[in-house]
Amino acid sequence: MNLSLHHHDLSLADAWRIARRSRTSNAAKVFIVELSDDSGLVGWGESSPSSRYNESTQSGSIFLQDIDLGRLSFANWAESLAWIDGLPNGEHSARCALSVAILDGAAKLGGQPLHRFLGLGFAERRHVTSFSIGISTPEIIRKKVLAANDFPILKLKVGSPGDRERLAALREVAATKPVRVDANEGWKTKEEALRMIEWLAADGKIEFVEQPMPAAQPVADWRWLKARSPLPIFADEAFRSPDDVAHCAECFHGVNVKLVKVGGVHRALAALKSASSAGLKTMLGCMVETSVLISAGAHLAEACDFLDLDGNLLITNDPFHGVSAKHGVLSFADAREPCGLRVCPRELH
Ligand SMILES: [Mg+2]
Repeated sequence: MNLSLHHHDLSLADAWRIARRSRTSNAAKVFIVELSDDSGLVGWGESSPSSRYNESTQSGSIFLQDIDLGRLSFANWAESLAWIDGLPNGEHSARCALSVAILDGAAKLGGQPLHRFLGLGFAERRHVTSFSIGISTPEIIRKKVLAANDFPILKLKVGSPGDRERLAALREVAATKPVRVDANEGWKTKEEALRMIEWLAADGKIEFVEQPMPAAQPVADWRWLKARSPLPIFADEAFRSPDDVAHCAECFHGVNVKLVKVGGVHRALAALKSASSAGLKTMLGCMVETSVLISAGAHLAEACDFLDLDGNLLITNDPFHGVSAKHGVLSFADAREPCGLRVCPRELH
């Protein structure tokens, strides 16, 4: 097997700000993994690491430098994935890139789209992603919400001073649209979180609230909040792997599963199944990503309750073509590549 890394600086259409980070950023660093076998079959993968989990494209590249490529195979994909899972060290995002590339190649070898290869299928016209609105001034929020008019569900980032003004701005131009809210660990006490969630519940059209408090908040505080919250609360930063399911079932109503957090497609599928079995609602989320990872996530759409796969819609220089999201509806109808992830580099499309 041959492994090449292609580094990209993804340009965001608008400066992106969430509660955890005070710095605004117009770019996100990712790398694409190109894994090819001797026949020339290529599997594509992607790493979009987050500093929240102490990962970077640099640490991920170093992790992949030491990979024994002799242990990777498209034909023996299950063994390859098990071997990757057994490697010591973190770097979940880099592992994710390998998992995605191996499964892309394996499904292509099997002549099937990834969703079918995984036994899930994919119903066209059924899967709708939310569209995210970052923290900004009320004036910019109004503009962004108007620009996102085609999307039937919004996700509003909150968790910093000015939340009330920002929701009011959104409601001025989208009075009744369903909204999901993500506080990104922004409320620091259970009392503050409950006060804010009660205010959000009064809106009447908020579906749920993601990560209201820091992941490290004591379990007792989470249980207190879960027992009182008038809206479902979802774990994002508090959900890193299928091992966190028991904790999250105690403290949350749902979990946000992301490929790069859990270490790939196969682990995300395991996490979704395990969380559902524990009675948790499931959402498949993303980072700022290209169409490689977003498409990989879309293949798991049948396995989750909610989709937040808009990372590729926030950038202006997506190097790949894959799943589309017209009016928020995920579709592979326009994908030229029939098998695997159904992605191809834009210069080839
Ligand atoms: Mg989140």
